[in-house]
Amino acid sequence: MALDLETRQQLIETVRRFVNEVCRPNEQLVSETNAIPEKIVQEMKDLGLFGLSISEEFGGLGLTMEEEALVILEMGRTSPAFRSTFGTNVGIGSQGIVMFGNDDQKNEWLPKLATGEAIASFALTEPDSGSDAGSVKTKAVKDGNHYILNGSKRFITNADKAHIFTVMARTDANTPGPKGLSAFIVERSTPGVTIGKPEKKMGQQGA
Ligand SMILES: Cc1cc2nc3c(=O)[nH]c(=O)nc-3n(C[C@H](O)[C@H](O)[C@H](O)COP(=O)(O)OP(=O)(O)OC[C@H]3O[C@@H](n4cnc5c(N)ncnc54)[C@H](O)[C@@H]3O)c2cc1C
Repeated sequence: MALDLETRQQLIETVRRFVNEVCRPNEQLVSETNAIPEKIVQEMKDLGLFGLSISEEFGGLGLTMEEEALVILEMGRTSPAFRSTFGTNVGIGSQGIVMFGNDDQKNEWLPKLATGEAIASFALTEPDSGSDAGSVKTKAVKDGNHYILNGSKRFITNADKAHIFTVMARTDANTPGPKGLSAFIVERSTPGVTIGKPEKKMGQQGA
């Protein structure tokens, strides 16, 4: 449900203050150290920024898309690394679970994602699959009551910090394009998962 206008304004002003008083004065530090100080990450958690789009039932703020956009506009007034810290929990990393997760998946992950206790990433892009997302080559083959995934992903935001990945993989080898793909929640601790070194990104130090 949408916030009343007064509460919405308070939220926006709180985020604006956070950007002005905490993020912007630390931009140079973040750029030099290529990391967001843990104290600032904790402030983001306390403000509820990791759970903007997760419903209150699971401990998030349950903002509407308009409210979320207004918050992100405020975050856009500082280095992108700050928004990126919680961005995958709000958007691509958690949205699959928010929209299509079953009760077990929601109950297990959404409360932890909403508080920032767990980080989620979205793993779609591959060395040979970028703009043409339907050309994903990672395969998922059913083996008894689970799937075995094989493939390689790249450019995955927050991969170095993530506890879970929403991984897009081809479950139907006979159906080319996006219709042959499915999404899996893959825990970082799953045997066989290896994470590469973070890319050096222009203008995105700390992300
Ligand atoms: C900072 C950053 C964060 C990212 N985070 C994630 C993430 O969290 N998860 C994830 O899965 N991916 C992520 N990505 C990957 C991103 O989604 C891909 O980079 C994007 O899909 C483009 O793919 P590509 O880099 O392989 O470029 P390509 O698809 O190879 O495109 C290269 C160039 O060719 C152009 N081009 C491509 N196809 C056509 C066409 N048919 N006609 C004309 N021009 C074309 C493109 O516009 C582009 O200029 C991230 C990328 C960046 C830069």
